[in-house]
Amino acid sequence: MKIVLATRNQGKIAELRRILDGIDVIGLEEFPDAPEVPETELTFAGNALLKARAIAAHTGLPAVADDSGLCVDAMNGMPGVFSARWSGGHGDDQGNLDLLLGQLSDVAPEHRGARFVCVAAIAWPSGEEETVEGRLDGVVIAVPRGTGGFGYDPIFVPEGDTRTTAEMAPEEKDAISHRGKAFAALADRIRTRP
Ligand code: IMP
Repeated sequence: MKIVLATRNQGKIAELRRILDGIDVIGLEEFPDAPEVPETELTFAGNALLKARAIAAHTGLPAVADDSGLCVDAMNGMPGVFSARWSGGHGDDQGNLDLLLGQLSDVAPEHRGARFVCVAAIAWPSGEEETVEGRLDGVVIAVPRGTGGFGYDPIFVPEGDTRTTAEMAPEEKDAISHRGKAFAALADRIRTRP
């Protein structure tokens, strides 16, 4: 079976390939004319489905897409689907992190709960669709630590740990991450599909 992952992010493609061992996972680089799908929905599932649907329609193959972000309790779940563009420009990781830290500067340690959330969606060429969610609970700290990962990793400490996800080895983060869990759940669905 061939599955297309609706991303050009090589890190995500490699991660899904490791988890979907035995299934042929290809990325969007094999489809240079694939549409850029704007994330216009207000939920992770809505955005993941938009992308999966568009890429399944374009390629005629089962398509997987994901959407993820950081949901902060003290901010009623924001930045959420706006995580990548919280400070305005899409993908300005440092700007996003600095803005969030400023917004949380008065929030006491006991109220700094947060979670990374990832929804992975698969759209089958038949029109069937499924979504699965993975979460990683933790807290947002006040002073960034670590140089690994990306995005909000330097300020996120998972429950039961003292390190930020930016201080973990990539395999260690993959094993507990929201994306790792969502992709693993999706792999189960794909493997057990009649
Ligand atoms: P997307 O799922 O590629 O749209 O990314 C959403 C945004 O959420 C990223 O740009 C990051 O700001 C944030 N994010 C999602 N997953 C992680 C993670 O594992 N570490 C740090 N930030 C993350």
